[in-house]
Formats: sequence, structure tokens, C-alpha cells
Amino acid sequence: MPVKILVRYGEIALKGKNRGQFEQRLHQNLKAAVKGLSAEVVRLRGRFTVSGPDEYLDQMLESVSRVFGVVSISTVQETELDLDRIKEMAAEIVSRIFPELRTFKIAARRSNKKFPYPSPEINKLLGAHLQQLYPALEVNLHQPAFILAVEIGFDTAFLYLDRTAGPGGLPMGITGRSLLLLSGGIDSPAAGWLAMKRGLSVEALHFHSYPFTSRRSQEKAVELSRKLAVYSGKIPLHMINVASIQKELRSQCPEELGIILLRRMMLRLASLVSEERGLQALVTGENLGQVASQTLESINVISKATGMLILRPLLSMDKREIIDLARMIDTYDTSILPYEDCCTLFVPKNPTTKPKIEIVERVETRLDIARMLEEAIGSLETTIVKRVVW
Ligand code: ATP
Ligand code: MG
Repeated sequence: MPVKILVRYGEIALKGKNRGQFEQRLHQNLKAAVKGLSAEVVRLRGRFTVSGPDEYLDQMLESVSRVFGVVSISTVQETELDLDRIKEMAAEIVSRIFPELRTFKIAARRSNKKFPYPSPEINKLLGAHLQQLYPALEVNLHQPAFILAVEIGFDTAFLYLDRTAGPGGLPMGITGRSLLLLSGGIDSPAAGWLAMKRGLSVEALHFHSYPFTSRRSQEKAVELSRKLAVYSGKIPLHMINVASIQKELRSQCPEELGIILLRRMMLRLASLVSEERGLQALVTGENLGQVASQTLESINVISKATGMLILRPLLSMDKREIIDLARMIDTYDTSILPYEDCCTLFVPKNPTTKPKIEIVERVETRLDIARMLEEAIGSLETTIVKRVVW
């Protein structure tokens, strides 16, 4: 038996050309999300439907509910735009849940004003019809055991009982392409998710310090990318070894500037990768005030190492909110695994919280930055991390 899912998306702020692009991109992303499930995605006016074989319903619901731009989804029954057909379908749906559920309300919504009955009228007529068939059914407008929703569309009507929220936001890829600086921490995966939610496609870049850090910390970056890929289908993951950069910084530079200098090198490397891949912005998990490298002064001095736009989606969030988000997107448990990160090596005892750009730049003149970058880029490895498929 084929089943059908009705997909709703946000309409606010969608005007003119933007609307067309939004719908086109969402259409593509929905098709990609249900690839391999023998499903068909159809664009209607203001809605999409996804239909496929019954045995894939759960997978379809799961995938579609994770597509950015989707506001909510429902498993629906579709009928002709005819009141008698709608009544029959309503009775059939109720026959499946009655008498377990016996208090109800009808929630009709008429998008198509050509349909001759206004919504309150549909509510009344359908309610009366169902009570005639099932006299023990009771209308309860405030706390019904089930709500039978009816959407009068332009070509057909949809009836359904459930409604699952989607992530909202904008279809991925519509606002541009970005590079996520992905550590093994709690923050950067959450930042990547928010960037995707705002319509950015995301590639990830992880810096490691093998052999000073274990392979497990790199596997953690792969695992986190896999969790993000649940929402994006796939994530190109770039890895760069910064062990020799760290060694050189440690031997050539004041210890208290170590983190600042390393971060500046990371941004330079990230900019090189972006240029190569045609990516337009960097995304970090930086948040104001958490650690020494996240004072306004430090963020400022670090960002001056690149001319690229740096987006910091978490900037204004509390740690609590970030943790809740990380739990919701299922990255938290992986993030808290205790493998060392390259930044936790050689941590200065007294890191500067108010670095001065003149001093940092003067210290950097001791370094052969071009060579250090070139060597590090030589270690670049890229893998495409895919969503685990059914
Ligand atoms: P996170 O939880 O993401 O590690 P954090 O709160 O620990 O963030 P920092 O350690 O100051 O903050 O790192 C700030 C940001 O710098 C990270 O969110 C990430 O975007 C980037 N970053 C730090 N370390 C790495 C790394 N090893 N590889 C890639 N990016 C990194
Ligand atoms: Mg960190």
C-alpha cells in the first residue's frame, strides 16, 4: 500500500523570486532525503507530498522531518474535493481508532476558497456524520483524545491525525556554502547545525595533532560529521595535521600567546581550504566569554588573521541552551567523549585574555608562516561522510 506524507513549509518572508528558489531547493532536498526509498516528491501549491511504499513510512517520516525548511509533516489520506468522499474517508480513519479513542474534534482548514463549505461548516457536517455512525463518539473541543484534521487543498483534500514538527529554517544550500571549523567539542557541531538551518551548505574542517592526539579524536570528528549528515545527507570532512605548527609555536613564541597564535594559523588554513573549495564563509562554535580565547579582545585578534567572513551562530547563547541543542541534534554524547583535542595540548598556564594585535603580529614575524601553512596543507585529507542509509 502506498502512503503519503504532507509537507508544510514556512511562507512568511517568502516573496517573489525568493519563493520560487526556496521551493525549488526544498524540492531537491526532499528528493535527496528520501533517495533509495522508492518515494516520489510532488510539488503542490504551498505544499509538497512525499509518497512511497508503506514499509518505508517510518524512514520517510524520519528523513523528511529533518529537512531544513520543513515546518511540519503529517501522514495523510487523500480524497477528491467532494464532501461525501471526505465523509467516507473520515469514517474510515475513525474506524481504525474507535473505540480506544472516543473524544474528538474536527479541525478543517480551507486553503481553496472555491470549495463550497467554509471551515466551521465542514467541522459541523463531518462531526455530525461521524457521531451518527459512532453514537459513542463525543465532541470535546478543549481536550479531545484525537483531532481529525482536514485540509481542503486546490486539487484534493487531505485528512490526518498526526502532525510532527520539522526543523524549520531555510532549505540547505540556498544562502551559500560554508566551512565549519569542527573540533571535538560540544559547540562546533551545534554551530554547524544552526548554519545549515539558515540555508548554508556545510563542509567541515578538523585540526588534529597526530601523534600527540590519538586517532580516536579524529574518529570523533567523523562521528560528529555523521550526526550532522543526518540533516544534510553528506558532509565533506577535511582534516589537517597541526602538530608541527604547534611544536614550532611552542619553541618560538611566548607560551601565553600559544592558543591565540594557533587559532590564527587555523583560520589561515581554513581560508586556504575555503578558497580551494569555493566556500564563502567560516563557521565556528565561538561563544562570548566561555574561555580565555573567547574574550572580545581575543576573538578580535584571532579574526584579524583572515579577511574571510566568520559566522558565530552560538555567540549569544547560554551554555545551557547550547547543550540542549546538542542533545536535540544528538551530537552531545559524542562530544563529551574524553578524547584529547589538539587545543588541549600545550595549554598555557596563563593564557592572555587581552592580547594586543601589534604584539601578536610582531611575534609572528619570527615565523615562516608561508612554509608552515604549506607543510600543514600537505597533510590535508578529505573524506565524504555520509548519512547512514537504511
Ligand atoms: P567547541 O565546543 O566547538 O570545541 P569551545 O567552546 O571548546 O568550542 P574553543 O576551544 O575556544 O571553544 O574553540 C572555538 C572554536 O574554534 C570551536 O568552536 C571550533 O569552531 C574552532 N576549533 C577549535 N579547535 C578546533 C579543532 N581542533 N579543529 C577545528 N576547529 C576547531
Ligand atoms: Mg573546544
